[in-house]
Amino acid sequence: MNIPFNKPHLTGKEAHYMYQAVAQGKLSGNGAFTKKCQQFFEERYGFKKCLLTTSCTDALEMAAILCDIQPGDEVIVPSYTFVSSALAFVRAGAKIVFADSMASNPNIDAEKIESLITLRTKVIVPVHYAGVACDMDRIMEIAEKYNLIVVEDAAQAIDSYYKDRPLGAIGHLSAFSFHETKNIIAGEGGMLCINDERFIRRAEIIWEKGTNRAEFFRGEVNKYGWVDTGSSFLPSEVIAAFLWAQLEHLDEIQSRRKHLWELYHSNLSSLALSPNSLIALPGLPEYATNNAHMFYLVCNSLEERTALIKHLKDNGVLAVFHYLSLHSSPYYQEKHDGRALPECDHYADCLVRLPMYYDLKEEELVEICNVISSAF
Ligand SMILES: *Cc1c(COP(=O)(O)O)cnc(C)c1O
Repeated sequence: MNIPFNKPHLTGKEAHYMYQAVAQGKLSGNGAFTKKCQQFFEERYGFKKCLLTTSCTDALEMAAILCDIQPGDEVIVPSYTFVSSALAFVRAGAKIVFADSMASNPNIDAEKIESLITLRTKVIVPVHYAGVACDMDRIMEIAEKYNLIVVEDAAQAIDSYYKDRPLGAIGHLSAFSFHETKNIIAGEGGMLCINDERFIRRAEIIWEKGTNRAEFFRGEVNKYGWVDTGSSFLPSEVIAAFLWAQLEHLDEIQSRRKHLWELYHSNLSSLALSPNSLIALPGLPEYATNNAHMFYLVCNSLEERTALIKHLKDNGVLAVFHYLSLHSSPYYQEKHDGRALPECDHYADCLVRLPMYYDLKEEELVEICNVISSAF
C-alpha cells in the first residue's frame, strides 16, 4: 500500500473554466467568475456579503483591519489552531489571549471564555476544528454582553451547520479557506464573509488596495481613489474559475467525503468501545453537523500516537499529527501569560489524522482500519 495523507480532487471542469477566463481576456480579480462564486455562497448559505481572497489567512487579515485592532487590544483565540487564526491579529498589534479546548473535542471551551475577558478585549475567534461547530449561541451571547466582535475561523467548515445555521453565517465576520487540503479547493484561496452590514463598504475598499474602485464600477461614484488602508487581497479570475468548477460539484464532494467518514467511524468503533479503550473517535456535539473535513483519532498518550503513526507508515499509510500548542510556540511563548492549557496540550500530543480525500477507495480505507487494529 502507498496511501498519501491528502490528494487534491479535480471535478474535471477546472482547466476548461480557467481557459474560459483567459479567453474572456479578463485575468485580474473581481470579474465574472469571482462574482459567480461569491453569489453562490451568498445564496446558498445566506452570508450577507462574500469577497474571495487569495487565502483564508488574507481573509483573517482583512478581518483584523475591519475590527480596527489597536496595539494592546486583546483577542481571544484557541491555542489548538493553525498559526493564521492568531497571526492575522498579531500583525495588527493585538495581544493574543489563548483559550483552552474542550475535553470532548478540540474546539474552544466556550464556558471558559468569560474568565479571559478584560477591558481591552475586542475580538473572539472561534475556530470550527475539523468542520465541527463551536458552541456559537454561547459565544455570541458573551460577545453581545461585552460588546465584542466575533470572527469565525471557518477555514475547515464549509457546508457545516450549528443548529441548522451554516457556519460562517453566525459571527460578525468569517473566513474560509480553499487551500488544496480543504474540502473545496482552488490551490490557494479563501473568502471573507461579512454578516454585519456595518463592515461591508469598508471591506470592499480594503479588498481593493484601499480604493473605492468597486463603487466606481457599480457607477455609484464618478471617480475612484485612495480612501483607506488595504492591500491586494483579491485573487485573479483564473483562481476563481478553478473554484467555480469545484462549487458546481459541492454536493457530490460532500456526500462522498461523508460516506468515507462514516465508513471510518463504523470500522474503528470497536477499538473505541473496548473496555480500556485504546483510542477515542471524534466527538460531535448535538448542536453540530459533520462536513467530513477530517477524520481523526485521539490516542491515550504521545508514545502510543508516535507508535501508531510509525506502524501506519511502515504499512504504507501516511497519517499525521496536527497543531502544536500556539501558547508554547517559539514565537509566542514569551508573550503568553503562563496559564497552562492542558486540553490543548493533550490534542497536540495525542491527535492523529487519517488519510481523507474524495478519491480514497473503500478497500484502501478498510485496509487502513485493519492496519490500525493490528497496531493494538
Ligand atoms: C487552513 C487553515 C487556515 C489557513 O488557510 P489558508 O487558506 O492556507 O490561508 C486558517 N485556519 C485554519 C483553522 C485552517 O485550517
